[in-house]
Amino acid sequence: MDTTRRGILKTAVTAAGAAVTHDFAHAQEQDHDHEHSHQAVPSDPALRVKSLESLLVEKGLVDRAALDALVDTYENKVGPRNGAKVVARAWVDPAYKTRLLADANDAMAEFGFVSRQGDRMVVVENTARVHNLIVCTLCSCYPWSVLGLPPVWYKSAPYRSRSVIDPRGVLREFGLELREDVEVRVWDSTAELRYLVLPERPAGTERLRHCA
Ligand code: FE
Repeated sequence: MDTTRRGILKTAVTAAGAAVTHDFAHAQEQDHDHEHSHQAVPSDPALRVKSLESLLVEKGLVDRAALDALVDTYENKVGPRNGAKVVARAWVDPAYKTRLLADANDAMAEFGFVSRQGDRMVVVENTARVHNLIVCTLCSCYPWSVLGLPPVWYKSAPYRSRSVIDPRGVLREFGLELREDVEVRVWDSTAELRYLVLPERPAGTERLRHCA
C-alpha cells in the first residue's frame, strides 16, 4: 500500500465520491457512537485540500516539489522546538536574554530563525508577578518561525474573544490557576507584530548550563 502523501492523495480523490455519499448517510443517523473502522478516507476538510492540490498540480498552477518543500518545512523544520531552543538559551545565558528582550528578531536570527512574514517579533517575560497571554483577536497571527503553525484552539472564536474578556478563566481551563496578586497581561498579535512568551525557568534546573 502506498502510504506517501501522494499515494494518500490519489486514494482519497478516487474515494471521494463514495465517501461523501457514505458520510452523508451517516450524518443522518442519530446514534454516532459506533466505530467507523470501515471508513478509511480523510476528514472532509482534508479531502477538500487534497482535491484542490490535485487539481492545481494537474493544471500546472503549482509545482509538486515546491509543495513538498513547504510541507517538509512545517512538518520537520519549523515548530515549537525552535522556540524551545530560544527559551533554553535565554535561561542559561543572561546576555542572550537581554538581547532577546531588546530585539527578538535579531536574537532569534542567531539561531537562523527568521520570520518569512517580515513581522516584528516581541518576547515578553513571565515572572513571579506577571503572566503573559497571547491572542490574535482578529484571526490567528502566530510566530511561525519559532512556534510553527497555530494550534486549532488558538484560532477558535471562543479563545480569541474570551482571552480578552476573561484571561484568568481561560488560563484556568488550561490548568493554570494564578494567584490574585499576579498581573495578567494580554497581548494582541497582528500580522506585523507577533509575540513569544519567555516562561519562568523551572525550579530545580539551576545546575543545567547548556541548551541542546
Ligand atoms: Fe491574526
